[in-house]
Amino acid sequence: MDFRYTPEQEAFREKLSAWLDRNMAEVFGEARDPLAQTDEDGERRWQRTKEWHRCLYEAGYVALHWPKEWGGGGADLVEQAIYQDEVLKRGLPLYGANQLAIDRIGPTLMFMGNDEQRQRYLAKMLTAEEIWCQGYSEPNAGSDLAGLQTRAVLDGDDFVINGQKVWTSLAHRADMQVLLVRTDPDAPKHRGISYLLVDMKTPGITVRPLVQITGESDFNEVFYDNVRVPRENLVGEVNQGWQVSIATLMYERVSGGTRHPVERTVNELIGVAKTVEFEGRPASQHPYVRQKLASLSTEALCLRLSRYRSLTAQLNGKVPGPESSFGKLHATELNLRAAMFADELLGPYAPLERGSLGAIENGRWSYRALRARGLTIAAGSSEIQHNIIGERVLKLPKGR
Ligand SMILES: Cc1cc2nc3c(=O)[nH]c(=O)nc-3n(C[C@H](O)[C@H](O)[C@H](O)COP(=O)(O)OP(=O)(O)OC[C@H]3O[C@@H](n4cnc5c(N)ncnc54)[C@H](O)[C@@H]3O)c2cc1C
Repeated sequence: MDFRYTPEQEAFREKLSAWLDRNMAEVFGEARDPLAQTDEDGERRWQRTKEWHRCLYEAGYVALHWPKEWGGGGADLVEQAIYQDEVLKRGLPLYGANQLAIDRIGPTLMFMGNDEQRQRYLAKMLTAEEIWCQGYSEPNAGSDLAGLQTRAVLDGDDFVINGQKVWTSLAHRADMQVLLVRTDPDAPKHRGISYLLVDMKTPGITVRPLVQITGESDFNEVFYDNVRVPRENLVGEVNQGWQVSIATLMYERVSGGTRHPVERTVNELIGVAKTVEFEGRPASQHPYVRQKLASLSTEALCLRLSRYRSLTAQLNGKVPGPESSFGKLHATELNLRAAMFADELLGPYAPLERGSLGAIENGRWSYRALRARGLTIAAGSSEIQHNIIGERVLKLPKGR
């Protein structure tokens, strides 16, 4: 593949790049990690993220991958890849404040929803007037999602919902939710599930934030007590929600691989090694540190090249291959290893958090070490990605 951009693509990149630098300085100021708590508290960060969303929306960058018909940018695949590279390089959120909606739920409605649903919901996703969350996992259904038990029963023109979801990111801020519910308990488990769009202000919904190891509260338990949802909020057919959810999950896995700014993290780690000592000498001159950094850096580059390979395949009209599972697995595991190595490099300074005396870079590495493991679990754990690669790509026999 020829990695050079055409003059038009290069012009697009330069314009975007200048726009990002100018506007991120205005919105995020000195924040080095716009997405992390190391620079400020959760509420302030959320307000800035919404402000950033407004900027992206007004400039027409918020949903480059959506068709123009639905208010998106109608960008081609290369422009989308340029956008992702430039945004991730700066540690910015890819889709402003409405990540789930713009990344996956919107595209799912475009393909699997009906016209009323598209008219009703898509535009407000773009403006972030309605923030969305995703209610899939339950206390006893995560990796085995099809085992979910939250029940919905048709009563007149409404579904009546009872049950519980957990780990629901953003539920405490969301206006709307996509919810997977069991509508036929007697059918084989994949065939008795439906996909609903639920207004989070509906009576009977209780959201209880969970505190994560980082001290943030980004995800929640959500309880449903006789919650009435109009039948028209069903996407697809009753009991065919699994197929609809697979479409959403495919977007999640594809973007899951590209959403983590691993290369940025590794480059920043190289920067740290130039400023600290390791075993009594400058870390950047220590052979062990150099070997580790070279290895992490090479893997980060391989990850980027693997994305380019996937992109080339798509440009040649082929469907994305196993790269989505590889990408998710590799990016989140590499991110974890980089964070663990930062721990080793910083030694006794590693656990010092934001505001602590002596904390390196205001505790951003301590924060990253705590945050990194969750990313290997979200959107399908590493073990599940291994299973998918083993069974569907390598065609190995199914494990028992
Ligand atoms: C940061 C974060 C954000 C999240 N956001 C959301 C959200 O917005 N909405 C939502 O619905 N969910 C969300 N989740 C939940 C996430 O999807 C689940 O945590 C994940 O699917 C794993 O499910 P579980 O926690 O029930 O673990 P389990 O499925 O109980 O797994 C426990 C352990 O067993 C392993 N395991 C399970 N089955 C197998 C198998 N067949 N083979 C090998 N190993 C196996 C797993 O890998 C894991 O290590 C989020 C999770 C995190 C960490």
